Amino acid sequence: MGEPASGALSQALLGGLLVLGASILLFFSIRLLAFSRQRALALVEERTGELRHQALHDSLTGLPNRTLVTDRAEQMLARADREPIVPSVLFIDLDNFKDINDSFGHQRGDQLLRAVAGRLAGLVRPGDSVGRLGGDEFVVLVQGRPADPGPEAVAERVLEGLAEPFHLEGMDGVALTVEASIGVASASPGQSTDELLRDADVALYEAKRGGKGRHMLFRPDMRLAVQDHLAIAMDLRHAIAKGELFVEYQPTFELGTLVIAGVEALARWRHPTRGLVAPDQFIPVAEDSGLIAALGKYVLASSCQQGAAWARAGHPLQISVNVSGHQLESEDFAAQVSETLAVSGLDPGLLTLELTESVLMRDADTSVRRLQALKKLGLKVAIDDFGTGYSSLARLRVLPVDALKIDRSFVAGIVGSRQARTIAGSLVQLGKSLGLQVFAEGIEDEDQLAQLERLGCDYGQGFYYSRPLRPEVLAERFHLGRPLPGVPAL
Ligand code: C2E
Ligand code: MG
Ligand code: MG
Repeated sequence: MGEPASGALSQALLGGLLVLGASILLFFSIRLLAFSRQRALALVEERTGELRHQALHDSLTGLPNRTLVTDRAEQMLARADREPIVPSVLFIDLDNFKDINDSFGHQRGDQLLRAVAGRLAGLVRPGDSVGRLGGDEFVVLVQGRPADPGPEAVAERVLEGLAEPFHLEGMDGVALTVEASIGVASASPGQSTDELLRDADVALYEAKRGGKGRHMLFRPDMRLAVQDHLAIAMDLRHAIAKGELFVEYQPTFELGTLVIAGVEALARWRHPTRGLVAPDQFIPVAEDSGLIAALGKYVLASSCQQGAAWARAGHPLQISVNVSGHQLESEDFAAQVSETLAVSGLDPGLLTLELTESVLMRDADTSVRRLQALKKLGLKVAIDDFGTGYSSLARLRVLPVDALKIDRSFVAGIVGSRQARTIAGSLVQLGKSLGLQVFAEGIEDEDQLAQLERLGCDYGQGFYYSRPLRPEVLAERFHLGRPLPGVPAL
């Protein structure tokens, strides 16, 4: 009889064990569930934190981005209502970053931006913020105290800090120097964040326009200057059609004989109410607004017609025309030049296109290809404003150019400073060693002329010899034959 009893017992035991097993399983499942829920929650939180960080920080430098900077600026302004602080904003823009990026590559450019970010962060006080607005634009929020020397002192410190050479990893022996422009604005009572940031931006625009490498404190009249820029852009749009643009020609000459060597075509704009507007004012506007294509086309066509007219009158003169980077970049530029030459009848050998050193070095390989296509037309190419860019000898050697024009900033100090003389001398020698014609720009007096001749420079241009002139005045002064066939406006 023991058998069935023990069978029942073992059955009960088995049942108990099963229940126990199930309970344990259930217990652990619940624990596991709770645990994974916790994990999941933690993970979600972690990811959200990361995403929030990503949304508010710049991925390259790790600095706060525009959104976070704006938020912090708002907080700073709110604090100023309660505490005696003077909120200020610095907008910082690197002046030569594009050149560095183009010369050394994007990776180096990124490396430099990270280094700049690190240096800026080290230059400000705890409580102040550094952010990146994008590209080569940075921002600093300064919570000034009443006894502080003011935000311009911070701007000065930033400029000095950035001027220290950067030694980037993997660039043995090459130190990069960074120049920056800074716009500074301090909050006035009741001002909104947007207004404060906009003021700093306007001051930055003025700092750049004023010659870069400097800081500028916002003044209300600066807003007018920005409106002016916009107004110029609007008027320029119609200037060509209305015949307000014209070309003046400035002779170049042989230093030794003072004989005219050629002429440079320089765009002029007679505005109906502003009078003569300088190219330094309207060429940058034309470049920003895309109008440079039409303007460049007009100057080229007008100059080629004028050159052909002088040649027909028995005075073949070398005509130099300035070409902007935008024109060189356009795919059909060579075709356009070819057509203009054909229409005007100008001998291609009499046309020189001037491109600035910084444009040519922006993307040296593409420049070589574009210049080769142009040179196939039989024209000449000159490097303008030479000495102000970042060319290396190796890059210069491969550029198919015929002449270089030493920037007038090197000529300006040539009489008073031995150092300036040495630099000008080495630029002349550099050009000559590459077999190029060397021109010096901006010769204003006899002493400069004599120094340049001594340094071995062959050609020059400047007010000493002649200012830019209307074609009929030039023709009369240099006996280029009269009467001149008129050059119709396009
Ligand atoms: P750039 O090509 O270097 O032209 C020489 C500039 O130096 C001219 O200024 C000329 O008037 C000025 N200059 C000549 N001799 C002297 C001198 O002895 N002393 C001083 N202080 N200046 C002298 P401008 O006509 O005001 O033109 C300024 C710049 O605007 C030009 O510099 C050129 O980069 C640009 N530009 C002018 N016309 C055109 C154009 O048709 N197309 C393009 N893309 N740029 C142009
Ligand atoms: Mg020029
Ligand atoms: Mg020049």
